[in-house]
Parts: sequence; structure tokens; C-alpha cells
Amino acid sequence: MRVHNFSAGPAALPLPVLEQARDELLDWQGGASVMEISHRSRAFIAVAEQAEADLRELLAIPPGYRVLFMQGGATAQFAAVPLNLAEPGAPAAYVNTGHWSERAIKEARRFVSVGIAADEATSGYSTVPEPAALKPAPNSAYLHYTPNETIGGVEFPYVPDTGGVPLVADMSSTILSRPLDVGRFGIIYAGAQKNIGPSGITVVMVRDELLGRARDGTPMVFDYRAVADAGSMLNTPPTFGWYFAGLVFKWLKREGGLAAMAKRNRAKADALYAAIDASAFYSNPVTPHCRSWMNVPFRLAKPELEKAFLAESDNAGLTNLAGHRAVGGMRASIYNAMPMEGVAALVEFMREFERRYG
Ligand code: PMP
Repeated sequence: MRVHNFSAGPAALPLPVLEQARDELLDWQGGASVMEISHRSRAFIAVAEQAEADLRELLAIPPGYRVLFMQGGATAQFAAVPLNLAEPGAPAAYVNTGHWSERAIKEARRFVSVGIAADEATSGYSTVPEPAALKPAPNSAYLHYTPNETIGGVEFPYVPDTGGVPLVADMSSTILSRPLDVGRFGIIYAGAQKNIGPSGITVVMVRDELLGRARDGTPMVFDYRAVADAGSMLNTPPTFGWYFAGLVFKWLKREGGLAAMAKRNRAKADALYAAIDASAFYSNPVTPHCRSWMNVPFRLAKPELEKAFLAESDNAGLTNLAGHRAVGGMRASIYNAMPMEGVAALVEFMREFERRYG
């Protein structure tokens, strides 16, 4: 039996895609699985190219961008970005809106001189900076930000205007949740394990002019120019993840693309936040205009009931609702693959739990 899985990542994947992968597992195109053939075979190259073409269509990626399929997760990109875009010790601007920004900043400090363009630590990471407050020093190699903080549940409702400084975004937990103006960005990267597919593959979109700038000593597998020139096949890529991502992109197209996803995701998030706000028993600390559509953290007015909440929701087939170990509480991650029925079931459970314990 499948549960409603609210995991933050690796996260629930679309059921029709899982079923297709299962059906094709032993015999994909002639007696072997997609995992058992060469990445250089004509059949696999077709898979890889189709996945990229579908992603380009979904996101309406304008000409002048390369799409790379890399490894090492978003965490590898925390290092790859400074290695590719800045000389050692050069200035780079970072926006700090929570846990994942902090992690990106910590890694970047090993390679560049980090200037904090805006810091939401003082707000307890409950909001995002005002657009006008985001002013990178003009000599910054780039400005890095985290459009959706997976743990804090804070999401930017706008794309920063950097005044010509290349904009770099860690979109791990928001990519493909809604339409995106890719042309505003120098680099977008995202680990796959939320809205794209299984963990192990990382999608990176790079504006052409940012290729070929990697500093001396950059490992080949992190050099965007080298990866792009090799069609993301400098070495053996995670073929199953790439194939699976391609199935997810096809599913998204069948479901109506990102405009349809945005409508659905907005309705899901609205329903859950409305339930939280309607009750003094539950609370979400994030300023309403920047509440995440994908990750909804919430707390109980009686924290001593958290254990019971998690045990009973799990029993009811609503799984993985524990908040990140760094912050505790509860968190419902409601990525593209979570249907409205899952959110409705959670809301119903929350009401019922409050009736019994409130
Ligand atoms: N950035 C964000 C926003 C994330 O949510 C995560 C993982 N949850 C990471 C970075 C780290 O990703 P990975 O484990 O793929 O390196």
C-alpha cells in the first residue's frame, strides 16, 4: 500500500512514473534494463537528449543556456559555483535566508571572499529580504541565493534584481513547482531528489557566457565548460536517474506543464496554511507573503504532543512529517508528486488530532 509521503527529500515521486519504471525495469528496449547498457549507446543518448529537450520545453529555457546533468548533489555546486565563477579570494555576494544558505556560504568561504548581501538570521529566518535591500557590491563575481529554504519553509516571492551581477540560485526544493523566468539567472542548480527524480543527479543550467571561466585547479568534473563540451558525459553519468528524470519531465508535460503545476501547488499550499492559521493549536512562523509552496513547517501549541502527532499520523498513512533534525517540530513537504488528496488527508488528520487533544 502506498502512503501519503511528506518526506523533504528524497521525496515522493509520481506514481505513474514509478509504475512505468517498474514495468520497464527488466526489459527496457530489448532484454536489459536501462541501468545495464552503455551511457554511450545510441539508445541511452536518445534518452539523455530527450530529457534535456523536455526540460527546456517545460522551463522555456531561452537560447544561450547549457543544461548540465552533474553529480555530487547541490552540495557539490556549493563549491562548483565559486570555482567556476571567481578567482581565488575574489568577492562574491551571498544572501542568507536559512540553513541551506548557510551551508552554501560556509563552503564558498573556502574559495572566495563572501560578502553577505542580506542576512535574515536576525529575523529568525522567518522572512526574505525586501527587494530593495538586496544590493550586491558591483564588483561581486555573482550573487547567490536560495529561492526556497527547505528546512525553514521560506520562499522568495520575487527574483532579485542584481543590477548586472550574475544571479545564482539553489533551486533544489522549488524547481519545476511553477513557471520560471530562466533568462534572469546566470546559473540555476538543483539536486534531483525532490521534484526531478531519484537522488544522484543534479541539474545545472548555465548561461553560455559563464562557461570557460573556471579557475586553475578546478576538478574536471566540476568545470562547467568541460562538462558542457562532453554533453555531461565526461565520465559515466547516473544513467538510471537521468532516465527517471526524463520520465518525470514527460509526466509533467502530460499533466499540463508548469502552469498547471503552479495552480495545483498553490491550491495545496493554501489549503494547508489555511488549516494551520485557522487554529490556535497549530502555527507556522513564516511571514505569509514568503511562505513556501513546497515545505510547510508547523508546530503544536503543546510541544509535548509532537511525538503523539508523529506516531498517529504515521499510523494513518501520513508519513515523514517530522521537521528537520536541526529545528524539530513538523514539516509537510508537498512537492509536485503530492496530490491534493494527500494534503486534504493531512488537514483532516490535523483537525481530528486537535479535536482529541486540543
Ligand atoms: N540545497 C537545498 C535547498 C536543499 O534542500 C538541499 C537538500 N535537502 C541541499 C541544498 C543539499 O542537497 P544535496 O544533498 O543534493 O547535496
